[in-house]
Amino acid sequence: MIVRKSKAEIEKMRRAGQVVADVHKALRDVVKPGVTTMELDRLAESIVRKAGAVPTFKGYRVGKEVFPATLCVSINEEVVHGIPSDDRVLEEGDIISIDCGATLDGFVGDSAVTLPVGKVTEEVTLLLERTNGSLYNAIEKCVPGNRLGDIGHAVESFVREYGYGVVEDFCGHGVGRRLHEEPQVPNYGIPGTGRRLKAGWCLAIEPMVNLGTQETIMLEDGWTVITEDKKWSAHFEHSVAITADGPIILTSRGDDPPGPWISGASGMF
Ligand code: MG
Ligand code: MG
Repeated sequence: MIVRKSKAEIEKMRRAGQVVADVHKALRDVVKPGVTTMELDRLAESIVRKAGAVPTFKGYRVGKEVFPATLCVSINEEVVHGIPSDDRVLEEGDIISIDCGATLDGFVGDSAVTLPVGKVTEEVTLLLERTNGSLYNAIEKCVPGNRLGDIGHAVESFVREYGYGVVEDFCGHGVGRRLHEEPQVPNYGIPGTGRRLKAGWCLAIEPMVNLGTQETIMLEDGWTVITEDKKWSAHFEHSVAITADGPIILTSRGDDPPGPWISGASGMF
């Protein structure tokens, strides 16, 4: 069942989302060569808890596995769900996907961004810009009456021409009182197909886009997902409310870093 949120619930979702936005804003200034991924995690957890929220991912279970941290940190060929570590030091030229969830007053915010560490190659810069662009292209489709296939197609069609692999093994999802609710939100689709979007739905849209193959492998830690060909991967995510007045990006403070992906869309949000 797809849970529709009331206006009051969407406001609670927005407040949870703002905590996640605050984490991302703080981490943007801290990510640099020499920093460990565990340092990022500690900072993120302190921001979440100071806001009176709880880290949603910490203690999250999939089967027997329990996720141990506030952030998922996925570097270079890692796609999603990497585990923070004192031993993993960021290096110049890396990219890091930082995914954060916060639960406040019973509702979850979920958002990810991939950041360059120092200076990265032009090929990688373009991957980041285009993947984030595909997210915003999909968010524009989040209006009542459109269909789920329109969202997936908006992601896929935005990046396909560059020869990237769009990950299909993982997808976006409904979000609300629980981190993962119905429906699943794939990053591919056929326009005009699938469930019709309704006001009150809240969706976490999260394109994962690879420089090479779309195929992925899970590492032995039971969490970290990497690309099969070890080529690098980008991941961007926002939690979005669908309303009669248009999409509300719950996990943005409206100060996302500027880039070509926002031109033409910034007025809407
Ligand atoms: Mg996430
Ligand atoms: Mg998510």
